[in-house]
Amino acid sequence: MQIYKVGGAVRDRLLGKPVTDIDWVVVGATTEEMLAKGFRPVGADFPVFLHPKSGEEYALARTERKSGRGYGGFTFHASPEVTLEEDLIRRDLTINAMAEDDQQNLTDPYHGQRDLEARLLRHVSPAFAEDPLRVLRVARFAARYAGLGFTVAPETLELMRQLSESGELEALTAERSWKEISRALMEDQPQVFIQVLRECGALKVLMPEVDALFGVPQPEAHHPEIDTGVHTLSVLEQAARHKQSLTVRWACLLHDLGKGLTPKEEWPRHIAHEHKGLKLIKAVNERFKAPKDCQELALLVGEYHTHGHRALELKPSTLLELLQSFDVYRRPQRFEEFIAACEMDARGRKGLEQRSYPQADYLRGAATAARSIAVQPLLERGFKGPELGEAIKRERLKALKTYKEQA
Ligand code: ATP
Ligand code: MG
Repeated sequence: MQIYKVGGAVRDRLLGKPVTDIDWVVVGATTEEMLAKGFRPVGADFPVFLHPKSGEEYALARTERKSGRGYGGFTFHASPEVTLEEDLIRRDLTINAMAEDDQQNLTDPYHGQRDLEARLLRHVSPAFAEDPLRVLRVARFAARYAGLGFTVAPETLELMRQLSESGELEALTAERSWKEISRALMEDQPQVFIQVLRECGALKVLMPEVDALFGVPQPEAHHPEIDTGVHTLSVLEQAARHKQSLTVRWACLLHDLGKGLTPKEEWPRHIAHEHKGLKLIKAVNERFKAPKDCQELALLVGEYHTHGHRALELKPSTLLELLQSFDVYRRPQRFEEFIAACEMDARGRKGLEQRSYPQADYLRGAATAARSIAVQPLLERGFKGPELGEAIKRERLKALKTYKEQA
């Protein structure tokens, strides 16, 4: 049997990028031979094994053919006769379809190296269209390598467009989509992911609520970039620049969905967009079965981001309601993430990227003030149950009044 390094490990070595996980392909072997060598079988779908020591993935060379809709609709064929070239041609991009032996001899039948130099994300063969997940993968790689100058080849973008129009994207499971979306959001330029999806028409299918923001104007005084879609991309860009968590980035992407619902007559104002957007945020959350922390923060940021921006003008009672809504006493981290998302929203505006955001420290101070009230004296005065709750709230309100006066 011959063993080759494939995919990302070869690509990233040639790019001079750190290689984190290595995928291997095994040519000329049977499942029985692999088991005899101590490899552990994984995955019900394909003949993939884990190395007994390194734990890295070794896949038997295989060919694939589409036999129905969706991910289940694939038949594969793995046998010792399948050649390396046959295995490589089923891969998504030419830069992902190179293999290397233990002497670093490159097998590159589909010119991945040429496309690496040309900085092009190009599909290997027309079979690209057989798996709609590849639309998301290409957009994700575009987000990852945009900084190196990579773009999607026009003919690949055209295939992605056809795939998006075919209805095939709808066959993707929430789990497969979320895996790509969450990884893409954590790349250096997540806004490129959304942009590429939009260019090929996939955004309209996957997240019509986000797609609808493009072409919707906002008041120029607060939003020199005017367009709500452009603003959303800038907020995402800022979130990546400031190394925010996935939760914050997800909330950034969805924070303004309500603006897509504003009747044209009301443009460029968006009255109550925060509240109107909640049902859309909920729909997107559920469509991709986003993790609970992502879902929660997106809804909270959607509802309260304007409160964040107006923090210094809020009445103590409104400030208290805000802190209560976040349950900041038990969930301080979530409130920090809210503040971060608001700050990214404020900076994700043309020419305002470097502005200061005093609201952040003001909100932190308010949380500290509300948190530091003394409960013991209330217990000593005999408050219990709901009455104790009310008494605590009164104390917090007092503390916030003092805080606001002194700020
Ligand atoms: P990463 O750095 O994100 O791990 P990668 O290229 O190694 O990038 P993997 O998801 O680990 O990506 O997949 C390994 C290889 O398997 C890819 O380089 C590609 O050749 C192939 N591959 C993975 N998923 C698909 C797919 N859906 N369609 C076609 N080829 C795929
Ligand atoms: Mg990999």
